[in-house]
Amino acid sequence: METKVVSVDNAVDTKGSYERAVDILRSGGVVAFPTETVYGLGAIATNEQAVQKIFEAKGRPSDNPLIVHIGNKEDVKKYAVGITADAEKLMEEFWPGPLTLVFNKIPGIVAPNVTPGVETVGIRMPNHPVALCLLRELGQPLAAPSANRSGKPSPTEATHVYEDLSGLIPLILDGGQTGVGVESTVLDMTIVPPVILRPGGATQEMIEAVIGPVETAANDTASEAPRSPGMKYLHYAPEAPLFVISQDEEEIRIAVDTLQNEGKKVAVIGPDEFNVSNADWYFAVGPIYDNEAMATNLYRAIRKCDFTSADIILAVETDLNGYGVAVMNRLTKASEGKRYSN
Ligand code: AMP
Ligand code: MG
Repeated sequence: METKVVSVDNAVDTKGSYERAVDILRSGGVVAFPTETVYGLGAIATNEQAVQKIFEAKGRPSDNPLIVHIGNKEDVKKYAVGITADAEKLMEEFWPGPLTLVFNKIPGIVAPNVTPGVETVGIRMPNHPVALCLLRELGQPLAAPSANRSGKPSPTEATHVYEDLSGLIPLILDGGQTGVGVESTVLDMTIVPPVILRPGGATQEMIEAVIGPVETAANDTASEAPRSPGMKYLHYAPEAPLFVISQDEEEIRIAVDTLQNEGKKVAVIGPDEFNVSNADWYFAVGPIYDNEAMATNLYRAIRKCDFTSADIILAVETDLNGYGVAVMNRLTKASEGKRYSN
C-alpha cells in the first residue's frame, strides 16, 4: 500500500485532502491526523472491521482499548451513560482539549474492539483545527490511538508517522508539529472520587481546580490487573536502552565518561542549559524546569536517538510540577524503570 502524505496546514488543496480522508474513513479505512497532543490513527468507531485495521497497522495488543474522539461535546451522550455534574464541568472546562473521560458505555454502539473487555468507553474532543474539521466533515466518531507502531514513542510530526506506518496506511494528514507533545490525561469518571489512569496534557492541579480532589492510579507496569489496560505494555521505547539520570550536570558528565570507558557511545536527553560536551550526542528538550517544553519535545528527542549509533541513552529527570508528572510517567515507561547512578 502506498502511503500519501498531504499537507493541511497550508492552503494547498485543503478541501480535497479532507474529502479524500473522509472517503477513506467512510469506506472502512484508516487515516492518520494531527491532534493537539500527538498524531492519531483514526477509524470510524462504530465499524468493527475498520477499527481492526488500526490494531493491525500498529501491531497493538487487541486487549488495549481505544479512545473515541468526537467533534461536538453533546455527542458524548450518544456513547456514554452516567455523565455526572462533575463530568459536565470538566467537559465545559477542558473540551476541546487533552482530557479523556472514561464513562460507562451504552452497549452496542461503539464497535466491540474499541472497548475490549471493559464496560466503559474513553471519550475526548481534541483541540486541533485539523482533527475537528475532519470529525465534523465526517459526522461520525473516530476511534484513534497514537499513530505509532506499538511500543514506539508517539508521533509529534507527520514524518514520525511515516517512519512507523508507511506502507501500512493509505493517508497521513500533515498538520505540522503537535503542541502538547504527550497524550491526553485519562480520567476514570465511573468511580468516586475520579481516578487519573494516565497523566497527560491536563494536569491533576488543573482538574482539581474544577472538581476537587481526584486520585492517581498506581503506576505499576508489572501490575496484574491494571485499571487502564494499556498500562501493562512496553511504551515509548527507543532502540538503545534508556536510563533516567538525576538533573545534575556533573553527575551526567561522569556517567558519560564511565560508559565511554566501557566502550559505549552515549546519547543524552536533557535541558538546553546543560553542557555535557563529552556526550556523543546531546538532544536538548527545552529550558531547565520548563516541563511543558519537555513534554512538547520529549518524543522527538527519543526518536532522534534511533538515528544515532548510541549504545545507551541517559534522559535527565524533571521535577513533578505541572507537566512533569506526565513527562516522568513516559520516561519511567521508556526506561522500564531503570535509573543510572555513578
Ligand atoms: P493511546 O490510544 O495509545 O493514546 O492509549 C489510550 C490509553 O487510554 C490506553 O492506555 C488505554 O488503556 C486507555 N483507555 C482507553 N479507553 C479506556 C477505558 N474505557 N478504560 C480504561 N482505560 C482506557
Ligand atoms: Mg499510544
